[in-house]
Amino acid sequence: MDLGIAGKRALVCASSKGLGLGCAQALAAAGVDLVMNARGAEALEAAAEAVRAAHGVKVTTVACDVTTQAGQAQVIEAAQGVDILVTNAGGPPPGLWSDWDRDDFIRALDANMLTPIALMKALLPGMIDKGWGRVVNITSQSVRAPIPALGLSNAARTGLTGYVAGTSRQVAPFGVTINNLLPGIHATDRANALDGPVAQQKGISLEEARAERAATIPARRYGTPEEFGAACAFLCSQHAGFIVGQNLLHDGGGTNLTM
Ligand code: NAP
Repeated sequence: MDLGIAGKRALVCASSKGLGLGCAQALAAAGVDLVMNARGAEALEAAAEAVRAAHGVKVTTVACDVTTQAGQAQVIEAAQGVDILVTNAGGPPPGLWSDWDRDDFIRALDANMLTPIALMKALLPGMIDKGWGRVVNITSQSVRAPIPALGLSNAARTGLTGYVAGTSRQVAPFGVTINNLLPGIHATDRANALDGPVAQQKGISLEEARAERAATIPARRYGTPEEFGAACAFLCSQHAGFIVGQNLLHDGGGTNLTM
């Protein structure tokens, strides 16, 4: 399917690896020029070079922590005039409700709620002026069904979801859509980071811990960054202009919900 977005420009945050890279690759495959971001410059340059070589699009890199105000200023400067924004950052650490203090919440809110809001606030006006734009926020299945150990993530991402619910309806009249893409379990470093402690706690191997977790997913496997990226690119396509303010689960059926 021709996504109809060749020649457009996108900022994809936190995209040297994992789900962000999956989104960058799928957008590049559709002919979209990119601004890619991550903290580690070496992995970011390697990812950008792989995208350029595979798809022949222009890729600019901005190595910085997108959750800081200084980092946001850097990516916003590089991304002036983009048509597409994909927000993403690392997720907060797991823990227990009684462990977290105010500073932990502020860090989580900064990373997973206030950063995407700041990027939208800076880049939506350019999209509105052009009468066309797409925003996809990478959030989590935890906004539909809580993951108890990820209370910081549950809280911050649900706050972003509430913001998007209203804001998407304010920008839709200008041809700009905002939607959230909700990953379930995907085979990335983040999944390994969560599987590792479980394996250790149960005295089993990482592979065994992964197999146990995969067995809880109706699709009986982890998702891939490529599949996730394809879903993101579709939400950024010409065909998705009537999809507004939605929360699309990409989880192999793992979130047990009727709607
Ligand atoms: P990942 O494989 O660990 O990749 C994270 C990417 O983000 C890397 O490129 C990393 O590069 C970059 N990054 C992290 N923090 C950053 C920051 N502060 N500023 C700029 N770049 C940053 O993670 P993932 O699995 O793709 O997860 C992406 C998001 O989806 C996370 O928020 C995660 O919690 C959420 N999620 C993932 C899953 C899953 O199963 N994978 C499920 C639900 C939700 P640097 O380290 O070099 O910065």
